[in-house]
Amino acid sequence: MSLLVVGSVAYDGIETPFGKTDRILGGSATYISLASSYFAKQINLVGVVGNDFADEDIDLLKSKDIDLEGLQIDKSGKTFFWKGKYHYDLNNRDTLDTQLNVFEHFNPVIPDSYKDARYVALGNIEPSLQGRVLEQVNKPDFVVMDTMNLWIEITPDALKETLKGVDLLVINDSEARELAEEPNLIKAADIVRAMGPKMLIIKKGEHGALLFTKNEIFSAPAYPVIDIFDPTGAGDSFLGGLLGWVDYTNDLSTDNLRKAVIFGSVMASFCVEKFGPERLKNLTEKEIYDRYREFRSLSRIPEVD
Ligand code: AMP
Repeated sequence: MSLLVVGSVAYDGIETPFGKTDRILGGSATYISLASSYFAKQINLVGVVGNDFADEDIDLLKSKDIDLEGLQIDKSGKTFFWKGKYHYDLNNRDTLDTQLNVFEHFNPVIPDSYKDARYVALGNIEPSLQGRVLEQVNKPDFVVMDTMNLWIEITPDALKETLKGVDLLVINDSEARELAEEPNLIKAADIVRAMGPKMLIIKKGEHGALLFTKNEIFSAPAYPVIDIFDPTGAGDSFLGGLLGWVDYTNDLSTDNLRKAVIFGSVMASFCVEKFGPERLKNLTEKEIYDRYREFRSLSRIPEVD
């Protein structure tokens, strides 16, 4: 199987109540690729970086067997830079700075060898760029997309157009309400699914996630992370864990999608334990499966007579 990942590759400045870093590897495609690398055999990354992108970061991606033929290196400028600050309510963050740099003229070109991908992860970037990716691939089995409030607000038409080609949209609760213009999440899910995606996941930060399929709702618990350090990348790690599992099992049944949601939650729970993608660098299979089992036991609801 092969998994195509498109999104931002970035440097981030992050401030949380527990610490601060001026520059650390980030970006939606980075987190998705790293999280999915624990499951998927072949990950093909499409993105752009600038003349300041460090060799050690290239080496890190390569060390996880992430193929970089689709990573453009634009020597004319610097890598996309994002700076954010979290307060004690870690579900909300302020964006302090966004420097598009080489991202401003990014045109995702999918190498021929990536075009037959069965699974596609459209990480958070401008929706018309996500749409351009879908125009270039040959009928993938399953397309998963992320977006953010910025695009819901400034490019709603492009977003709705791209959504028509998506199987599963993964967004957080406030984004779902904003996109559907409906405060009730259950009603909002129906409205969003009518826009194109057959399935929808609504993430509720530290309160878990809901998977909406045709006739079912699955509620995944949140892991009670004790050492939450930095939530950056949690959403992307969720998507990476989820799609990585689907790629590994090559199974799109509802039951397997439930497992995928839990593996997504597992990867997100690891991601937040350290700054940036640090915790995603050296996980073991045992740590991942042990945490999956902890998730299971969190919501074992006893029968009643
Ligand atoms: P998450 O915390 O999962 O929502 O994703 C965090 C990542 O999104 C950071 O590493 C940022 O570099 C990246 N990011 C922030 N703003 C944007 C944007 N406008 N377009 C693409 N990526 C972004």
